[in-house]
Amino acid sequence: MTSLIQLTECGFYCPAGDFFVDPWKPVARAIVTHAHSDHARPGSKSYLTAREGTALVQERVGAESPVEGLEYGETVQLGGARVSLHPAGHILGSAQVRIEARGEVCVVSGDYKTVADPTCRPFEALHCHTFVTESTFALPIYRWQAESRIFESLHAWWRRNQERGRTSVVYAYSLGKAQRVLAGLDSSIGPILVHGAVDRFLPHYTRAGVRLPPTDRATVENSRPARGRAIVIAPPSAANTPWLAKFGEVSSAMASGWMQIRGPRRRRALDTGFALSDHADWNGLLGAIAATGAEEVWATHGYSGVLVRWLSEQGLRARAIQTAFEGEEEAEPLAAREDAAANEEFVAQAIPTHETPKETAAED
Ligand SMILES: [Zn+2]
Ligand SMILES: [Zn+2]
Repeated sequence: MTSLIQLTECGFYCPAGDFFVDPWKPVARAIVTHAHSDHARPGSKSYLTAREGTALVQERVGAESPVEGLEYGETVQLGGARVSLHPAGHILGSAQVRIEARGEVCVVSGDYKTVADPTCRPFEALHCHTFVTESTFALPIYRWQAESRIFESLHAWWRRNQERGRTSVVYAYSLGKAQRVLAGLDSSIGPILVHGAVDRFLPHYTRAGVRLPPTDRATVENSRPARGRAIVIAPPSAANTPWLAKFGEVSSAMASGWMQIRGPRRRRALDTGFALSDHADWNGLLGAIAATGAEEVWATHGYSGVLVRWLSEQGLRARAIQTAFEGEEEAEPLAAREDAAANEEFVAQAIPTHETPKETAAED
């Protein structure tokens, strides 16, 4: 096990630089990979994050907390460690933390994805000895379609709803996913309305130069005339609430990686789902890990056990790390965990020992 980074009761700690990465509890110095609430926790004395994400992290940890920004690729010396931040391709301002000390390199990637996303900079593969990876969707069944295909079906669904006089409601996590959905929408189809929780993050995106279509914050006044034509982007918490009443008859969908399997969709009584994720799929994870050349891999979030088993069979030193928080932005509540349990059996069959993921994929 590397001494560059240790798991403590506050989360990942770098003794050489005396700092924590995405600490779970208040600490003196926190380096934050991105502004999702399971990574950016309030109460620490100082925060360092990627320049593009400073405003978002500031909003999360509170205006009184000192948040410093570092350009991607810029290096700072913290104690005996050289630290730099590199794009993680997850949401605006998301970063991987590269730590170097005594000739050893460790990369803590936070949440990441390897496919293009118009709302943030593309994932950058870094060479390292130890790679700390997420494993939210580390099952061979999770393989994302091209984004263009997903938006084709989303637009077709929106048009079908219009023909039937229904308002289209897409549930998407308010920071990251909602903006990615907006960035892909064809505003010539109809009006685009957003929930307040989504709206409050939009200025951060436009200020960073991300192009988004024209939107209106959904109000009683503008919702009535847009009924049956509009698409509404709202956080999942808005489902089954009186807030929806102003849109008349609706057809609902959710944009989330979990939509790849039927259970979560059915349980939420959604009309459809779009498997659009801000996390790497199975092939994305394996590709990213291979690109680092790491000898040791730590897996956090989600299906870490499956990933660790697969990597170990490839001859890597791999271990699962239990984190205190699981990603809110994609974490289906308990329902998905039940699906996960139901999937265990499937998984055992899906990745028999000594089988490459390619062969497994061919069987799907
Ligand atoms: Zn995240
Ligand atoms: Zn997360």
